[in-house]
Amino acid sequence: MQAPARIKALDQNVVNKIAAGEIIVAPVNALKELIENAVDAGSTSIEIVVKDGGLKLLQITDNGSGINRDDMPILCERFTTSKLKVFEDLESISTYGFRGEALASISMIAHLTVTTKTKDSNCAWRAVYADGKLVPPKPGQSADPKPCAGRQGTQITVEDLFYNTPSRRRAFRSSSEEYTKILDVVGRYAVHCEGVAFSCKKHGESGVGVATTSSTNLVERIRRVHGSSVANEVIDFEVSNTGLGFKAKGMLSNANYHVKKTTLLLFINGRAVESSSIKKSIDAIYSTFLPKHGHPFVYLSIDIEPDRVDVNVHPTKREVNFLHEDEVIEIIAAGIQERLAAVDTSRSFALMQ
Ligand code: ADP
Ligand code: MG
Repeated sequence: MQAPARIKALDQNVVNKIAAGEIIVAPVNALKELIENAVDAGSTSIEIVVKDGGLKLLQITDNGSGINRDDMPILCERFTTSKLKVFEDLESISTYGFRGEALASISMIAHLTVTTKTKDSNCAWRAVYADGKLVPPKPGQSADPKPCAGRQGTQITVEDLFYNTPSRRRAFRSSSEEYTKILDVVGRYAVHCEGVAFSCKKHGESGVGVATTSSTNLVERIRRVHGSSVANEVIDFEVSNTGLGFKAKGMLSNANYHVKKTTLLLFINGRAVESSSIKKSIDAIYSTFLPKHGHPFVYLSIDIEPDRVDVNVHPTKREVNFLHEDEVIEIIAAGIQERLAAVDTSRSFALMQ
């Protein structure tokens, strides 16, 4: 009989890398966290530069609050955050990030440089991180943050993502596919975030993939990101229910517009999420208004009382569960149906007269 192998704890560094790999499976996951951080910091301008689909370089520059120099040493440690203090806070969290894991994860699997300046500091500070800790930018230098010139806000530079997990790095065959995913996520936040200018482009190229200004209204933001063919055919929509503790609003394409695939830009409490049940019910409603194989464009932002939402589901935080999901979806679907029916009849009246 074979003797059982002894059980040993994995090295902490290995544990951290595994955890990081669960949060960041592709460059777009890192970028989404960085965008949410920038929005949380009150930024009105967020500029993104990408090289090789984000695998070589992801750089995001914001004009938000900045980070205190004294917080820089612990910035990238796991579970360090300015947004959550006790477990109960999880139940009433309204900022995007909540567990202090994003920057830590990125520092485990990429070269990370942070340059930041707060309003009260008379210079900016730059620091380089690896495995959650400050490291010297060059051998022999000090690891301490260095003073430098800079504007208020924060610039996060992520280089060589997955450099220390070569098998994962090799799994990315096409950087243009990763760039497409990045543009999709930036486009979502660019539509959703009122008062925030977004730009996203490839490193060294002058043309931008996404560009919005901070002053444009929702329809114009949709126009900038998705084009006039959609923006000319959207109607606004709003429904709320105090009993179920939610408000939903957004923009819907009308019956004049249809494409091969549904575009659903879904936000729950300010976070871009996916929901196959919401998508299904939207498709079902539109099937009575659109030709066969025609699909709509829908931007839907749902705000639910924080204690009804379970944000603590999965590290990637793509899925969000909430109480009475079926009833909430039913009410939203009925609202959409009513709104579409209203414009549809007024359109046919207009045609008849
Ligand atoms: P979380 O967002 O869950 O708190 P992160 O690892 O994403 O965790 O960020 C850790 C902390 O770093 C944040 O709580 C915030 O205080 C600070 N931070 C990160 N990015 C920015 C930014 N762009 N501007 C200002 N502060 C930031
Ligand atoms: Mg965060």
